Amino acid sequence: ITQLVWLRNDLRLTDHPALFAAQQQGDVALTICLTPDQWQEHHESSAKCALREQLIYALQQQAYGLGIPCHVLKLKRFSDCADALTKLCQQNGYEQVWWQNELPVHETLRDQKVETQLIENGIKCQRFTPDLIVSEPVLNQQGQPFKVFTPFYKRWLTTLVNKISAPYDLPTQQSSQTTFPETITALYDSHYRDDLWPADYQVIREKLWQFCHHKEQYYDELRDYPAKPYTSTLSPYLALGAIGPRECLEAIIHSCSAQEREWQDSVWLKELAWRDFYKQLMGFFPELSKSLPFKPETQYVQWNHNPEGFQAWCEGNTGFPIVDAAMRQLNQTGWMHNRLRMIAASFLTKLLLIDWREGEKYFMEKLIDGEFSANNGGWQWSASTGCDAAPYFRVFNPTRQSERFDPDGLFIKKFVPELKSINSKQIHDPSSTIRNQSGYVEPIVDYKKARGHAIAAFENLKDRA
Ligand code: FAD
Repeated sequence: ITQLVWLRNDLRLTDHPALFAAQQQGDVALTICLTPDQWQEHHESSAKCALREQLIYALQQQAYGLGIPCHVLKLKRFSDCADALTKLCQQNGYEQVWWQNELPVHETLRDQKVETQLIENGIKCQRFTPDLIVSEPVLNQQGQPFKVFTPFYKRWLTTLVNKISAPYDLPTQQSSQTTFPETITALYDSHYRDDLWPADYQVIREKLWQFCHHKEQYYDELRDYPAKPYTSTLSPYLALGAIGPRECLEAIIHSCSAQEREWQDSVWLKELAWRDFYKQLMGFFPELSKSLPFKPETQYVQWNHNPEGFQAWCEGNTGFPIVDAAMRQLNQTGWMHNRLRMIAASFLTKLLLIDWREGEKYFMEKLIDGEFSANNGGWQWSASTGCDAAPYFRVFNPTRQSERFDPDGLFIKKFVPELKSINSKQIHDPSSTIRNQSGYVEPIVDYKKARGHAIAAFENLKDRA
C-alpha cells in the first residue's frame, strides 16, 4: 500500500472524491486523527463527539470488510497531526497523502503545517476542494465572494447544473492484510441519542432516501412546524460527513424525477446551498473564525451582562413557552428545529441583548450537529451582525412565532410538561393565574420594552465604525 487517505469531517467511504482518486493509484489505507483537546477548545458537544466515535468504529469495520486498513491516531490537538502523519507514512511506506480541504482558520493552518512537513520528508500531498455540493469557490462577476445568499444561490445553481456529478463509488475490494478494528476506548461520556441518530451507514442512507421520497416534496410547506418535523434531521450526519453531498443531490434528483418535478426547484436543495454558503464564507473571511462579527460596525453593540437571564435561557426557564420548549429540546436531545433555533437565538440576542457569541458557544456545547460555519452563520444572522443577516429592526415576537408555527401548542406540551393541560389559545402566553397554578415561570422580560432597547442598541452604529 502506498496511498494514505486522511478522513476528517468526511467520515465515509462512499461518495469520497479523494478516496476514489487515491485508489486509482493503487491500494489505499485510511487514517483518522482523534484530537479531543482541540474539539473541546472548539466547544464540540459530547453528543457530537460520541456520534463521531461510533461512526469511526462503523467505518473501520466497513473498511476492514474491503481489505482497507484504517489507522486511528490518538492525538490531542491539530498541532500534533503533522508529526503523527509523517511518522505513520514513514513507518508504513506511504508515499502520498490525500484529503479534502476544510476552510476555517485552525483547520487551514493544520493542513498547511501537515503539507509542509510531509513534503519536507519526501511524501506527496493531494489536496481536494472542500466537501460541498459546489466545492469550487462561487464568485460574482468581479471575481468576489457573494455577501448575500440569493445571488450566491443563483450562481451556485447555474454552476451545479453545468457540472452535475454522480456520487463517487465505494472503494473496490483490496487484498491487503488488515486486522479487525478494536473499539476506540471511549474518549467521552458516550451518552447521546443513538435511538435518533444511529451510527449505521446503511440506516443513514435509507433515512436520506426515505426523506427524499416521502417528505421532501412537502418540505417548503411544512418545514417550519416543529411539532411534526418535515425536515430531514440529517444534520448530525452532514456535520461529520457520514453522508456525501453528491449522495444528497442524487436522492433529490431521483425523487423529483419520480414525482415529475424539476430538481432545480427543490427547496430542500436550496437549504443545502446555505450549508455551502456559510462554509465558503469561512474560507473567504478569516475574521469569522476569530469570533468577529461580519459587519464591523456591530462590534460596538453594547451587549448586556446578564448571567441570570443567560442561565434562564440555557435552562429553558424564560417564561416564554416556545423558547423554553426549544431550549429543553436542545438540552434533552442535542438537536433543535431550525425555526426554533432562530426564535431562541433572536430571544437571546435581541430581547435579552446578550452577546451572540455566548449563545453560539452554548449551542456548540449542546448540539449533536454543531458545525462551526452553520452555527456561526445562524447566530450572526439572528443577531443582525452577519453576512446577509436579518435587519436589526427585525425582532422576533416569540408569542406570535409560537401561535404561527405551533398553533396547537403540541410542541410546547412535549417539552414543557407544566403546560400540558393548557388549551391552545392560552398556551402561547399563559396568564399569571395559569402560571401560578401550573408551576410555570413568569416571563423574564417585557417583549415591547426589550424590543425597543434592542433596536436602540443597533441604531447609529454606522457612525461609530
Ligand atoms: P434540513 O432542513 O433537512 O436541511 C438539510 C441540511 O441542510 C441540514 O442538515 C444542514 O446540513 C443544511 N442546512 C439547513 N439549513 C441550514 C442553514 N440555515 N445553514 C447552514 N446549513 C443548513 N446547522 C448545522 O448543521 N449545525 C449547526 O451548528 C447549526 N447551528 C445553527 C444555529 C442557529 C442559531 C441557526 C438559526 C441555525 C443553525 N443551523 C445549524 C442551521 C439549521 O438550523 C440546521 O441545519 C437544521 O435545523 C438541521 O436540521 P435538518 O437536518 O432537519 O435540516
